[in-house]
Amino acid sequence: MHPVQDPPLATLKSLIAWFTFPAIFAGQLVAFDGALSLGFDPALTSLALTIANMALIASLELVLPDRSAWTWTNDGQTINDLLHGLGNVFGDALGRSALLIVFAAAGGALAAQGNLGLWPAEFPIWAQVLVAVVIVDFTDYWKHRVYHGSSIAWPVHALHHNPDRMTVFKGVRLHFLEATIRALVVYGPLAALGAPTIVMLWIAALMNFLGSLNHSNVAQNLPHFVHALIVTQKTHWLHHSKDYARGACNLAPLTPLFDHLFGTFRHPLDEPLNEVGIDPDPIPKNLFAQLASPLLWPVLVWRNRRRVAQAAKE
Ligand SMILES: [Zn+2]
Ligand SMILES: [Zn+2]
Repeated sequence: MHPVQDPPLATLKSLIAWFTFPAIFAGQLVAFDGALSLGFDPALTSLALTIANMALIASLELVLPDRSAWTWTNDGQTINDLLHGLGNVFGDALGRSALLIVFAAAGGALAAQGNLGLWPAEFPIWAQVLVAVVIVDFTDYWKHRVYHGSSIAWPVHALHHNPDRMTVFKGVRLHFLEATIRALVVYGPLAALGAPTIVMLWIAALMNFLGSLNHSNVAQNLPHFVHALIVTQKTHWLHHSKDYARGACNLAPLTPLFDHLFGTFRHPLDEPLNEVGIDPDPIPKNLFAQLASPLLWPVLVWRNRRRVAQAAKE
């Protein structure tokens, strides 16, 4: 006999799920804006809010999960995810330092004033952030498309895709080199154009806030059209689909604008998501081996092939 679900409880959970995305996302934006207007340090505020937000979402995943099997408590990779997240802070700093060197080497306006002075600084901050969202979505879209389309770049990104479940901690499960490359490719153009620090911080905050929600397993109900307007949990889950061809959809980080324009948008409510992960999966479970995985890729692929062949014989 199937276990009988308590209908009123299921209805209540489904009702609450309509509020999780707007409440958490808007709450973060209001808290960040409020802290900035009170004069708190923006970088520290962004970091503190990201951590508090992850803790809140991780707790909610335990009581209001979308998929009950995808728990972070028995994942076996949660500590690794967090340590990779810490590595990303260093990876990002490495990328930003490299940017300064590139700017100095480029000479001219870049070396003299640090940017080309092309930024629409007279716009209100919210409009500057919108301009930055379009630029970042464009550069990140193509960087992401290269990761999925190139066999040379894929080993750097594979670590983000190998988990067999989605949890809030998967948002920071990126090889530290990804953070370095992101700082160069995504923040480089903004810095070169002359975007002020506050705009960069808003972009970083938006990426962190959405990244946590979109990788999380907290039940989130949204109307059909919202998935086509901003990057949501379900659109990003579809990006993590085990079916590799389908995995190369929904590539932009903030809005699906360029996915619509370049033909890679897939609506998550129009097609079912089965499993997430990669197949074949040569990524080891050990943290240090994971860090070395882009370098060891051919060996790891060979070892995985041998393991699969041996398992098929037995
Ligand atoms: Zn990807
Ligand atoms: Zn992801």
